[in-house]
Amino acid sequence: MANLNSNLKEIKGIGEKTSVILKKLGLSTVSDLLFYFPFRYEQYENVTEISDLKIGENVKVQGEIELIEGRRGRKRKMHLTEALINDGRETLKVIWFNQPYLAKSLKVGDRLSLSGKISDSYGQLTMVSPEYERMKIGEELIGKIGTNEKEVNEKNSSEKYAPTNLVPIYHLTEGHLTQKLLRTTIKKILPLGSGLKEWLPKDIIKELKLIPLQESLSLIHFPKDEKEIKRAKQRLAFSNLFLRQLKSQSIKKIIKSKSAPKINFQEEETRNFVNSLPFKLTDGQKKSAWEILKDLDKNQPMSRLLEGDVGSGKTLVAVIAMLNTALNAKKAALMVPSEILAAQHFKTISKLLEAYNFKITLKTRSYKIGNPEEADLVIGTQTLIQEKSVLKNLGLVIVDEQHRFGVNQRKKIIDLNKEGNSSPHFLSLTATPIPRSLSLAIYGDLDLSLIDELPLGRKKTKTKVYRESEREKVYDFIKKEIKNGRQAFFVYPLIKASDKISFKSAQEEYEKIADADFKEFKVALIHGKLKKDEKEKIMADFATKKIDILMATTVIEVGIDIPNATIILIEGANRFGLAQLHQLRGRVNRSNLESYCFLFPSNDEIKNEKTVERLESLEKYSRGLDLAKIDLSLRGGGEVFGSYQSGFFDLSVLALFDLETIKKSRDFAYKILEEDKDLKNYPLLKAKLGALDRDFHLE
Ligand code: ADP
Ligand code: MG
Repeated sequence: MANLNSNLKEIKGIGEKTSVILKKLGLSTVSDLLFYFPFRYEQYENVTEISDLKIGENVKVQGEIELIEGRRGRKRKMHLTEALINDGRETLKVIWFNQPYLAKSLKVGDRLSLSGKISDSYGQLTMVSPEYERMKIGEELIGKIGTNEKEVNEKNSSEKYAPTNLVPIYHLTEGHLTQKLLRTTIKKILPLGSGLKEWLPKDIIKELKLIPLQESLSLIHFPKDEKEIKRAKQRLAFSNLFLRQLKSQSIKKIIKSKSAPKINFQEEETRNFVNSLPFKLTDGQKKSAWEILKDLDKNQPMSRLLEGDVGSGKTLVAVIAMLNTALNAKKAALMVPSEILAAQHFKTISKLLEAYNFKITLKTRSYKIGNPEEADLVIGTQTLIQEKSVLKNLGLVIVDEQHRFGVNQRKKIIDLNKEGNSSPHFLSLTATPIPRSLSLAIYGDLDLSLIDELPLGRKKTKTKVYRESEREKVYDFIKKEIKNGRQAFFVYPLIKASDKISFKSAQEEYEKIADADFKEFKVALIHGKLKKDEKEKIMADFATKKIDILMATTVIEVGIDIPNATIILIEGANRFGLAQLHQLRGRVNRSNLESYCFLFPSNDEIKNEKTVERLESLEKYSRGLDLAKIDLSLRGGGEVFGSYQSGFFDLSVLALFDLETIKKSRDFAYKILEEDKDLKNYPLLKAKLGALDRDFHLE
């Protein structure tokens, strides 16, 4: 008997080939697949008559097969199955690609129920690659979409999940994986979900009226209506929220019991440093720096979050804190989420603090400059916390782009630091814009400092959503700007076209941009798979203007600061959340030059009004907080799972709850820890929390 841990290969209907494809999606066990959620649902209307069909509509049609045949396409590798379907009045053409068995399994005279999009093929209305289902003899109404007849006959599966017009859509990879196969398989393994143990405390489930875990899985995959989707999402998202709060509270408890090295405020030196800068600090920067310095000057560890929109100058505030720490002969460590960013910070900070002759070290997986043992300042990625020598004499730890890490790294540092009962001070920097009230409810263990303004003189980034037909115009404009001495980022969602969904692959695009459209300029492509020297060289060349256009996957998303780059063009913009787009846009507008952001949604999405409307909010709003609110409200009932990089705590989760619920769960976490700090009475919960400790990104 298969169970939750069984390999998917053991499930009937999944062959070697399919299991390899599933593996690419990170799915190897039954449990993996059960937790692979749809990223959206398609709503099919009730049956439409063929004579009423319009191009572009998603419809359901029923009729009899008049003709069906398979043939090779013009491209030799392609196989086409073509059929004519008649509903008693009119005939519709249907095409399937690369499913040669269809022409054998379906016969003239069979009655089918078909769901799909109507397109125009050489003047003829055509349904391309529809989901189909055989109608049973005498059946008037449609059963469920995407089940094959065998399964309809299997009892229980058809009764338990009532007929619905909502069809789950999953992210697929290339190859032969179809929505249908995924759906059928999930339906098959759904009963195995009974092996899942409920790990949320019963009281909280009751108090917040959450549905049980297993039910949430059936509803997320096969919902009857929007309400069910929401209830499922609430249950599933709650786990994430609750664990985070529990973790956060338990860290707070530990930190509170520790002492920290007192960092005396070096007032004169700090003033000299600030006066040496080529600009004046903003009020937000001053106030935040002051709050931080006051905290450092205590024997208790600071736990503070510095929040400020992209470009608000958080780095400088961090540097002021590091300066004071080093002047107190304590070590300060700055941890960032990418190697590129670490290298950049190393450079800027070394330059800013040049006059002090501090020993500054860079330490990442592939860089090692200086010796952390002797360093005054250590800059690096998360490898820092694996380095024991870094922790000696450590006075302050700063985590940049905190939302990229888990809540755990703080805990890890405490755990590693075996020097008695002391802990360094902690400062986290984030541009994640969330309303203050929420912030307090989620980051329960952190004090909050805000930089709520941009440096003086910054303009708004001129932002606009474009269609394909306007591309040339946009390119001409960009060329003009580059000739005026500016530089540009071109951003692509992924490095490989690993997906049938039409978005551009950076690699292919590179050739087009570098060798054709922008061949008079210097273009480089940077992505996560390059070696560090290559990356470094490209970033250095871009910083020194040896490169005009930097094409990139989202590795440039966080933190990169090149003030002369004033243009950002984003392909496949629909694939990003607003908050992420805002982050990306934050790569420009880092000086007083006019800056521009060009958004190109992928072709199949430009007609989607919702998508365009969502993207257009970037035209109107320039503050991260406004955009986050829109993102939250738009995505409240709609898309929540899967579209963002998985693994990171996704703020859109919060849209599912009201503030009251979030506070309740926080108080609940607090109460549990007060009564039972080692979670002796909650072994399953404890195990979950433990898993969070092991996996840095599980949040
Ligand atoms: P972020 O908050 O996104 O991390 P950075 O710290 O990278 O922003 O700062 C963005 C840019 O603004 C940098 O080039 C920095 O030198 C500059 N900057 C920081 N503070 C000020 C200020 N008060 N006035 C003018 N420019 C500033
Ligand atoms: Mg930054």
